[in-house]
Amino acid sequence: INSKLPNTPESIFSKMSGMASQYQAINMSQGFPGFKSDDYLKELVFKAMKDGYNQYAPLAGIPELREEIINKIENLHGKKYHVDSEITVTSGASQAIYCGISAFVHPGDEVIIFKPAYDIYEPIVKSNGGIPVPIQLKGKEYQVDWEEVETKISDKTRMIVINSPHNPSGSILSREDMLRLEKLLKNTNIILLSDEVYEHIIFDDRKHQSASAFKDLAERAIVCASFGKTFHNTGWKMGYCVAPEVLMKEIRKIHEITVFCVNHPMQRAFAEYLKNPETYLSLPNFYQQKRDYFLDLIKDTKFKTVPSAGTYFQLVDYSEITSESDILFAAKMVKEYRLASIPVSVFNIDQQDHKQLRFCFAKENETLEKAAEILSKIG
Ligand code: PMP
Ligand code: GLN
Repeated sequence: INSKLPNTPESIFSKMSGMASQYQAINMSQGFPGFKSDDYLKELVFKAMKDGYNQYAPLAGIPELREEIINKIENLHGKKYHVDSEITVTSGASQAIYCGISAFVHPGDEVIIFKPAYDIYEPIVKSNGGIPVPIQLKGKEYQVDWEEVETKISDKTRMIVINSPHNPSGSILSREDMLRLEKLLKNTNIILLSDEVYEHIIFDDRKHQSASAFKDLAERAIVCASFGKTFHNTGWKMGYCVAPEVLMKEIRKIHEITVFCVNHPMQRAFAEYLKNPETYLSLPNFYQQKRDYFLDLIKDTKFKTVPSAGTYFQLVDYSEITSESDILFAAKMVKEYRLASIPVSVFNIDQQDHKQLRFCFAKENETLEKAAEILSKIG
């Protein structure tokens, strides 16, 4: 077969969700909200279908939606992207990331990826002949060591991928981090791919630091985002990216040959829905309550936590319970205790074993309570 990706395993998300259903376990593994998305939003989709928006949309997305998105970015981050040339609506953030990497990474180019990392960056780089350069995030709070980044930048570095709020750790990049990155990249040709899918899920009054808010970063940044996380509809696979025109021109070439355009009635619906900022500004509070409820429920168990700063994921450390690897322990938890989570080592350099599991707390309180009851019985 001569595989292009010989070492890319089956997705851990498919694997753990598959096991959860096989063993009828509570599924806190794959990240998706356990709540219904807004009926009004669904009605808007149906209305668009009834109104006849059932054929191809424009390649870059419908102008009404692009306009709403760029206004939102301007309001939140002070950067005004051009509605015609600097935004493309994509099939989820995944396709934005695929296009962003594929448009620029040539064989032999190096791409810096912070580990643990969401699992698609590396295979996309490799499928383009690029070379992933992993850098481990440091400490309990998964921070970037910028001095190490400096030493890993070379003449071959084509791109750096950042992800804040970060999946799986729930850490975030601070304003100081972004300024440091901006300084590092100044006078280079390095492109920044900023995966900001959890931009609205951020806690304790922290502010999301978008790459678009930093002038010199925005000039080289492809910012990728997803509606799925924000509006409880990961199955709709709707997202977008923004970037300066010179970059967007190339991204659209890959967008054209992969999908050409994305779901038309959903674009109509989001163009209307985004007019109400409450739909996304309410998210930090909503998810912070979920996080705090889950943390409180498990505080007397042997699972130890550092509160997640963003995303709908919470890492738990089980090192007081067993020295078993997280992959084995996660499998045992599904089979014996009927609770599914994600072992963190699969996202790490050389599968380093941190004795940590990732739980998705985007679930109804009743589910969180059942999960906590199970966790209280372990160890
Ligand atoms: N990036 C990160 C960090 C994610 O967690 C996810 C999805 N779960 C994606 C990208 C992909 O987003 P989408 O489902 O919109 O393709
Ligand atoms: N991003 C989701 C997670 O981290 C899963 C997406 C997928 O299943 N590919 O769990």
